[in-house]
Amino acid sequence: MPTALITGIAGQDGSYMAELLLSKGYKVLGIDRFSSMVTYENLKLVQDEITLVEGNLLDQGSLVAIIEEYSPDEVYNFAALSFPAGSWSQPVVTGDTTALGVTRMLEAIRLVCPETRFYQASSSEMFGNVREVPQTEKTPFYPRNPYGVAKMYGHWITVTYRDHYDMFTCSGILYNHESPRRGVEFVTRKISHGAARIKLGLTHELRLGNLDAQRDWGYAGDYAEAMWLMLQQDQPEDFVVCTGETHSVREFCDAAFSHVGLNYQDYVIQDERFYRPAEASLLVGDPKHARKKLGWQPQVSFEELVTMMVDADLQYLGREIL
Ligand code: GDP
Repeated sequence: MPTALITGIAGQDGSYMAELLLSKGYKVLGIDRFSSMVTYENLKLVQDEITLVEGNLLDQGSLVAIIEEYSPDEVYNFAALSFPAGSWSQPVVTGDTTALGVTRMLEAIRLVCPETRFYQASSSEMFGNVREVPQTEKTPFYPRNPYGVAKMYGHWITVTYRDHYDMFTCSGILYNHESPRRGVEFVTRKISHGAARIKLGLTHELRLGNLDAQRDWGYAGDYAEAMWLMLQQDQPEDFVVCTGETHSVREFCDAAFSHVGLNYQDYVIQDERFYRPAEASLLVGDPKHARKKLGWQPQVSFEELVTMMVDADLQYLGREIL
């Protein structure tokens, strides 16, 4: 039975990855900074099947101890301060966890168990002020916030350990990926949650920023498969993972409100407070390499993603009201 360690296991990606690995017969270990919580909403399906271990990307010794004790075959590094816009308020902690945390984990692997395969969660945010459209694995980076800068460091240290130490390390440059487990600070969940609240009569408006901003939104469950496939290759490589389709925040609103029989224009208010000072420009990925090499294709369409998220919020809020 192979063993995998997931950092940030209670987050959206960590929890989908835990489910995928368990279904493939792995023993799954997880680290999460909220280790004193009794229950984790995202882990409720797998809580009894995973092993939570004490550790933190800020603490080198804790990582060495975990790798020594469990010698995992694979490590998936999702732990990060993961909200790009919010990284302006904590730029130093963002760098410490999201950037240097990667080096601490790589060092622990290198010193203790160098044959462990390592996956680094890189981000399309690294392209920021994009140098070309669409972006590929070769497009230069130009991050526009501390989160993007920290992720860029994480990406390059992952590449450098592969080149220098011949370790099996891969970086997945993932475009936005959403699900009912996405935090409400992200626009997709804010909209699905808002539409559900309005439908249930809990509020009468939804305040958003730039409705014309565009993103490539995929389904997080599909992306877990792509990340796993990267570590099953003969040779380690980096991959852009995206759908190749872009949609605007307005289209997301339209689909979400239409799904519950409402017109978004009657409820959505554009509010200066939610505008970004430095917006990433046209983030459009080219998924060709992942398609060809990994044989990976997203399964859930944009419309299916929106309706899945709205339905989950209706259900969740419906339970709360009762
Ligand atoms: P990001 O790509 O990681 O920054 O993901 P977000 O979901 O936070 O933002 C996606 C896009 O939605 C950005 O271009 C935002 O400017 C835009 N957006 C518009 N209104 C809002 C809002 O109210 N909240 C958030 N978070 N984003 C918004």
